Amino acid sequence: MNKLKRRDFIKKIPLAGGAFVAGCASPQETNAPAIHTGKTYEWKMVTTWPPHFPILGETADNLAKWIGEMSNGRLKIQVYGGGELIPPLEGFDAVSQGIAEMCHGASYYWAGKAPATQFFAAVPFGMNSQQMNAWITSGGGQALWEELYAPFNLIPMPAGSTGFQMGGWFNREINTIADFQGLKMRMPGLGGKVLSKAGGSAVLSAGGEIFTNLERGVIDATEWIGPYHDYLMGFYKAAKYYYYPGWHEPGTIIELIVNKQALESLPKDLQAIVRAAAARASVWALAEFESKNNTYLQKLITEKGVQLKKFPDPVLKTLRQYAQEVVDEVIASDAMSKKVYTSFNDFRKNVSAWADVSEKIYYTSISG
Ligand code: CA
Repeated sequence: MNKLKRRDFIKKIPLAGGAFVAGCASPQETNAPAIHTGKTYEWKMVTTWPPHFPILGETADNLAKWIGEMSNGRLKIQVYGGGELIPPLEGFDAVSQGIAEMCHGASYYWAGKAPATQFFAAVPFGMNSQQMNAWITSGGGQALWEELYAPFNLIPMPAGSTGFQMGGWFNREINTIADFQGLKMRMPGLGGKVLSKAGGSAVLSAGGEIFTNLERGVIDATEWIGPYHDYLMGFYKAAKYYYYPGWHEPGTIIELIVNKQALESLPKDLQAIVRAAAARASVWALAEFESKNNTYLQKLITEKGVQLKKFPDPVLKTLRQYAQEVVDEVIASDAMSKKVYTSFNDFRKNVSAWADVSEKIYYTSISG
């Protein structure tokens, strides 16, 4: 079949409704503008994670791989783990200034740039992963997130989630709220401010530094993520009590930030590929966390002798009061935080009422 006949053949494939599919003619045949310009782009992605770190660093690696595959090599992304190109918590500035085109991280690391960033990562006693995704994707969160980042020349998008986290590693029991007094604990974001209200002192450090700090007594306690990562980090060697629930991070969203000019300078199909890869990362990362956490929780308990403990209910109740005070203080001093939190909280109330008659009652009824 020669080229002309093949095109005619394709044009005549009937659809169910009796219409005909347009032929998939190449640009040379139709004089249509070329979609594939052949131009290749080479970008840098920095991350807040240690290089190739399980799930999180792997998500960054996968983003680069998927974008390369989907673009047939037209958009090549070199991934730099935290500290390889720039210090791990300087990705916001680096992408804002165009030193790198992308950063994979979590928005609460940028609270010093704009306090409202924290609401797009984790809010103590806030929403879980699927509720956060619902707010961002379908509840107005994405537009607010873009509005917040626009002055920094950045476009944010969700690109992963950790699911529910654990409460952290301690060498002292937490029996009452007073047990947080004087406790120096690694905890980012709004959760860290709640800890300060309870008399502790919050330290923000990137993942690669935590174990050494805990082992050397630079910090007394730490939270990190959940059983899979906490097992791999070896925290059980430096702390004996493993507390739940992770009240401070009930469903942390991982973000991809892209330099606005860089993204907008790409052909439309490559822009769509970046967004599609981020969406795939959101599904992949959460699936990885959910599939691994219990296996590693059991390993920690049975193989490593870790003592699993629940924060007492009165402690959680007090922490929740403090969490509301922290949020009230943030929104009282920053108009954008107020705007974002109002949207967040309205959505949370609405989705919580649904959860009360769906997941909450379901888990209670079928526990075990
Ligand atoms: Ca955490």
